Amino acid sequence: MHEKLQPVREAVIARNPGEKEFIQAVDEVFGSLGPVVARRPELLDAAILERICEPERQIIFRVPWVDDQGRTQINRGFRVEFNSALGPYKGGLRFHPSVYLGIVKFLGFEQIFKNSLTGMPIGGGKGGADFNPSGRSDGEVMRFCQSFMTELYRHIGEYTDVPAGDIGVGGREIGYLFGQYKRITNRYESGVLTGKGLSWGGSLVRTEATGYGTVEFARQMLKTKGDDFDGKTVSVSGSGNVAIYAIQLAQSLGAKVVTASDSSGFVHDPDGIDLDILREVKEVERGRINDYVQRRGGQARFTEVGKASLWEVPTQVALPCATQNELNGADARKLVENGVLAVAEGANMPTTTEGVHIFQEADVLFAPGKAANAGGVATSALEMQQNASRDSWTFDYTSTRLTEIMKGIHDTCAAHADEYGQPGNYVAGANIAGFIKVADAMLAQGVI
Ligand code: GLU
Repeated sequence: MHEKLQPVREAVIARNPGEKEFIQAVDEVFGSLGPVVARRPELLDAAILERICEPERQIIFRVPWVDDQGRTQINRGFRVEFNSALGPYKGGLRFHPSVYLGIVKFLGFEQIFKNSLTGMPIGGGKGGADFNPSGRSDGEVMRFCQSFMTELYRHIGEYTDVPAGDIGVGGREIGYLFGQYKRITNRYESGVLTGKGLSWGGSLVRTEATGYGTVEFARQMLKTKGDDFDGKTVSVSGSGNVAIYAIQLAQSLGAKVVTASDSSGFVHDPDGIDLDILREVKEVERGRINDYVQRRGGQARFTEVGKASLWEVPTQVALPCATQNELNGADARKLVENGVLAVAEGANMPTTTEGVHIFQEADVLFAPGKAANAGGVATSALEMQQNASRDSWTFDYTSTRLTEIMKGIHDTCAAHADEYGQPGNYVAGANIAGFIKVADAMLAQGVI
């Protein structure tokens, strides 16, 4: 790390004790910015680094709700409004028991640079709660969402802060959240949330966008080597919205996707994942991934979490689409040993710092999440555009826009990596390109 960045990093650690995922995300970005501050000392003079690491506003609130047994439950809700240099705060809400301030801040920090890379006018934010929706009835989820929004509504708005989904927050939750926002404010303010249903302000392609975008980014990387997905073996982790559409697009480009997972373990299906069965089990029934193996039969096998790693399965393209730090140094070594060509992160920060270094040293094409999974939030910005103009676009038009945006992000990352002397380093390219745009806007807007 550049010597001028070191004291800033130490101050961030001192000010945010125990927030290890946030520090990991800061380190990852700072690790790329040495050449930028060397060339642009005015950014240091204006304390841009110190300011970019300190959220503009952090909201923590109590979320009381009543479960089906009539017991009162309490969760903790968060919204971190990190940076509004480029536009209203924008980023998802995560409902998962692991959520605490450090997770929300890592996600919000990543979101600043990701949103900048999309080229759309959106700032960075993130939120959520330590609520576990799994095993909860629709009624419980609704009451939780209503209580959550009863506090959140006063902080958000189409020109202020525009939440969306993330882990544990999909179409059902966005519906309940939007309904409560509308009821409290008495405003049909479509642009206040994205990921809405198609009949009430949602955008075509938003559901598919993150997974499709990740595969498109990987396709662009392979193309630089004269290669493509056709005939490739691909490993995907996760079985949520990102994983499912990554599998779908990879398959339609001629790849054989052989894995999927959830928190209980992973499946290896050497004949190729049957997406209809996977969707039935995970989306319709909200069941466990082992049910896939029961229904699929053949050579499909389930491995319980902790017994072995999904990344031991030989593959040519790895798409981690589950959660942070799911792919560690040992996993990366195994993937390299088995000849992996490209890794594109569909999740946010799924590869550990050690894992990233192993891929880079082995010259594996590696796309960080802030570039590779930006298709989701980019399409959220397209949803905001449609809401602002009270219009709705066709699937083809919207998906063409998404493909162009992903190509744009790929090319921007590659160009910045080249310009700063690290050709082929998409981590450096994404961090530098994402940062410079935000930093310049912050400089122009003065000390705020
Ligand atoms: N949660 C997604 C992300 O990590 C999407 C956010 C959004 O659409 O605002 O980028």
